[in-house]
Amino acid sequence: MNYPPGIQLEMNFDGPKGNRFKEKLNNGVFQLIVEVAPPTASIPLVDAAARFKEIEYIVSAKQEIPAALVFLDKTSPPDNAADPVRFASELCQTDRDRHLLCVSGKNRTLSETEKMLGHAANEGFRNILAVSGGSVPEDTPKKARSRIYTESIHILQSIKEKFPDLLNAGCAVNPYCYIPETVFPQYAKLAKKISAGAAFAVTQYGWDMHKLQELTWSLNEREVTIPLIARLQLLTPDKAEEICADKVPGVRISPDLEVMLRREMTHSLAQFEAAQWRRLQIHAAGARFLGYSGIQISGAERPEQVNILLNRIAEALKEFTSFEEWIAAYNDYYARLDMAPYPYRFYKFKNLLTSASFPEQLEFNPAEMTELSKTEKFKFNLSQYLLGKAHQIQAAEKRLTKKILVSCRSCQECRLPLTGFVCPENCPKGFANGPCGSTKVDGRCEMSNDECIFSKQIRIAAHTGDYATLEETFIPPVAERK
Ligand code: SF4
Repeated sequence: MNYPPGIQLEMNFDGPKGNRFKEKLNNGVFQLIVEVAPPTASIPLVDAAARFKEIEYIVSAKQEIPAALVFLDKTSPPDNAADPVRFASELCQTDRDRHLLCVSGKNRTLSETEKMLGHAANEGFRNILAVSGGSVPEDTPKKARSRIYTESIHILQSIKEKFPDLLNAGCAVNPYCYIPETVFPQYAKLAKKISAGAAFAVTQYGWDMHKLQELTWSLNEREVTIPLIARLQLLTPDKAEEICADKVPGVRISPDLEVMLRREMTHSLAQFEAAQWRRLQIHAAGARFLGYSGIQISGAERPEQVNILLNRIAEALKEFTSFEEWIAAYNDYYARLDMAPYPYRFYKFKNLLTSASFPEQLEFNPAEMTELSKTEKFKFNLSQYLLGKAHQIQAAEKRLTKKILVSCRSCQECRLPLTGFVCPENCPKGFANGPCGSTKVDGRCEMSNDECIFSKQIRIAAHTGDYATLEETFIPPVAERK
């Protein structure tokens, strides 16, 4: 997204002094956040905003449950939507500190992202959800390499450095991972994002409440407290079909849940919708009992849907008065079906969902990762020996060795010793600080059949015992990718 030259010079950062979204998060007020996807860029903003006015009014006027909007950032292909800052400014003439703006690093350099953040701050927005951006459907790894993906960690660092008192930054996390090779890198990346300045986190959407609690316990285990928001999806038959066909990156369901959804799809539309409202109610109430500070709802796009949504969620929050009552209803609703996508079913902790609170004695499940093969060990040992100082010398030095050992792609800043000697340029998005949320359930990259580089890194860390480098080292962006 190109901003007019000189926009930074025009910034005056006038705007609301407070931040009501942040205050609610920090004061434990449970919020309902409705996703708004800006329309395509070709539609005049005034017309587009007029269409969403009613939703904005419903969300702002509702008293039973505090509600807000989150403006998604889909300016890149295939959506090519309007700039969320401009769209949100057109739609929300006041109260901008109540809402959340998504800022994605996809197809934007870090400096373009910073201009967008400046624009948001200047317009009076105060809450930013920093994301790296999902892949473009049908992209091959080669095509993806030609795109820019600014990592969310770098966006968070920029916010902390350049807008410390103005912008409240949050990040995304995908807790719906089911093998140790994907679970641990997600949590390690979340820890890094929090150190980089994320003050709250929003999950990917999913239905496995054990995983929502695994996330809270993982933070408790590290003695980290930030507000968490559980993202939930209001399903339509088309969306349910897409999910059952495994076409939504980063969204995983179990065979049992697939059977349930497919059965619901055979019902009348009215019955299907009734089942979805009930599902949302149960998950929303559960999220609150598990300590979440709110829910972010995807898929409620029409004013009448948003109205029903707010009423149903408010009802659900009143309906269940204790965790015990809620867990009985949850188990009853799902008839104890298995939520893990068999054969992948790793949960970090034992006794999840046996109580709402963090246990005094945390019990872990064994984390069995695929060990390094003999060849992998050999290459790692040799890389360590030959390239142990590769980040301290010119990147062009030892190029041939790097090509042979780690499929080096000739970038300008070698980071190998910081990444377990797995070249970050082999990630199609060029991520160096941790995985995206779309790694396949078995640990393969969302865009290829190769193992996600972060699954490999964590197996190497398990071999060396050095998890700290992966979790604590911030790896700066490279100037140019190859
Ligand atoms: S290598 Fe991992 S982090 Fe990179 S795009 Fe593939 S799945 Fe995502």
